[in-house]
Amino acid sequence: MNNIDPVIAGEIRSLRQNTERSERTDFVTTYTEREYLNGRTREERVLILRTRGCSWFYHSGCSMCGFYEDTNPRIGKKEVVAQIEQFMKQYPKGEVLKIFTSGSFFDPVEIDKEIQVPIIEKILTGYDFLIVESRPEYVEKIAPALEKFAGRLQVAMGMESTNSEMLKFSINKNYTFDDFKKAAETLHAKSISVRAYLLLKPPYVKENEAIQDTVKSAREVAQFADFISINPLNVQRGTLVEKMYKEGNYRPPWLWSVREVLLSLKDLNVPVVSLISGSGKKRGAHNGHECDKKFSNGIRKYSETLNFDYLEDLTCECREMWSRFTEVEGKIPTELNEVVFSDF
Ligand code: SF4
Repeated sequence: MNNIDPVIAGEIRSLRQNTERSERTDFVTTYTEREYLNGRTREERVLILRTRGCSWFYHSGCSMCGFYEDTNPRIGKKEVVAQIEQFMKQYPKGEVLKIFTSGSFFDPVEIDKEIQVPIIEKILTGYDFLIVESRPEYVEKIAPALEKFAGRLQVAMGMESTNSEMLKFSINKNYTFDDFKKAAETLHAKSISVRAYLLLKPPYVKENEAIQDTVKSAREVAQFADFISINPLNVQRGTLVEKMYKEGNYRPPWLWSVREVLLSLKDLNVPVVSLISGSGKKRGAHNGHECDKKFSNGIRKYSETLNFDYLEDLTCECREMWSRFTEVEGKIPTELNEVVFSDF
């Protein structure tokens, strides 16, 4: 912990001050998605709870994270319980539920510790398996109370990269791979499974370096996680990444790069998927070519089945453009890159 650079942390904090928070107290949204989990394709329901937001926002926050837009600083225990009750009335049953909170489910400031375990108990009366997200620092205290959910609970942690320089100078994560490892071991000791999120292409990192870092991080994190989810960066409002994007100094990763990462990890004995937010859009992973839809569908289909044919089958003439981009990126501003390559 305390692995931050004060200049980057300060800039992120000052950008955040210009953004609005929500006044609403209902849950943010719910939707379904499909993913290959625990041996087969599963239909998963996602619930995004509205909370007061990640405690790390209140200090600084991660350079790419704009989740605080959906949060309301006045939300407490009562409002969270009301959201769960409302949700369970509408969607009482299912196979898998993912709860996202724009922060950490086990952060006692965000979700009162008195209601964390009762919420899990209630959800597991109607759902077979639950996935919640947390920063590693909250795991140690809650772990003994999770033993009774062995085999039915997964905790997802945003490791992003195992490279401590990247965590400090690019992401501003304020924890290290060692913190993740410790939390993962604690959870495994209680038979709770662990998911690692990895971030593809954080700010200040070039496309080629990003691919190499994500592949290396996945290989390292696989020794401590049961499941890996690759998140290609999408540009969110009010973030340091958005500032760089608007200045022409950041381009989200190519879908070619996502494909490259996933294929490079074919031999890994841990499932690796990528459910991409904003796939094919300018602010999300995109090739900027007519193949965007085909690539988005191929990567989604792969993530639902782990069938590598869906990735191998992806081809397009823009591969050459991707490879040229990786050579010149950083040498000319990104906006100019887009202009240069739009003629390709
Ligand atoms: S990415 Fe996660 S840990 Fe970082 S600021 Fe956002 S919610 Fe908090």
